[in-house]
Amino acid sequence: MSEHISIHPAVDGGTKPAAPGFAGGTLVCDCADNQVAVKIKGQCAHNHVCGCTKCWKPEGALFAQIAVVGRDNLGVVANEDKLEIMDPSATIQRYACNGCGVHMYGRIENEDHPFFGLDFIHTERSNEDGWAPPEFAAFVSSIIESGTKPADMDAVRARLKQLGLEPYDCLSPALMDAIATHTAKAAGVLS
Ligand SMILES: [Zn+2]
Ligand SMILES: [Zn+2]
Repeated sequence: MSEHISIHPAVDGGTKPAAPGFAGGTLVCDCADNQVAVKIKGQCAHNHVCGCTKCWKPEGALFAQIAVVGRDNLGVVANEDKLEIMDPSATIQRYACNGCGVHMYGRIENEDHPFFGLDFIHTERSNEDGWAPPEFAAFVSSIIESGTKPADMDAVRARLKQLGLEPYDCLSPALMDAIATHTAKAAGVLS
């Protein structure tokens, strides 16, 4: 029964492995003309599906698909004037197209943030094949905030596991450890 749960179009049919030596690609928005285009150099990291209420999701998807790239490897190459920051007070400044609403990238400007230097991208906005596929599911419980019934959560988690996407209610242990390590170093607990 859980096979009928749609997580995200990029994972519902199973995922493809990353292409060795993948050179990157160009993310485009959904506008019919004057598309915003963002060029990414090289492979992404930590690709995952995310259930939070802030990440951009395609129409009808329960989860967003989101990955990171070094900010130096990201460049807006067309129609940058259409980009607007969704919420300038948010930790992650999400740049969305003001024509179609697609989020093109998210950036952290706080140099003390554990993820400073990384930009957040939605790899499905690119036509190139070879991106590293999602590895886990983050902020799974948060889909309740977008309207999923609590009683459906067991089936959603079962479907994620079936797709090989281990469900977590925050980030994955590796990323939570990276955040805690950064905090401990900043506090002088770790050298
Ligand atoms: Zn657009
Ligand atoms: Zn999210």
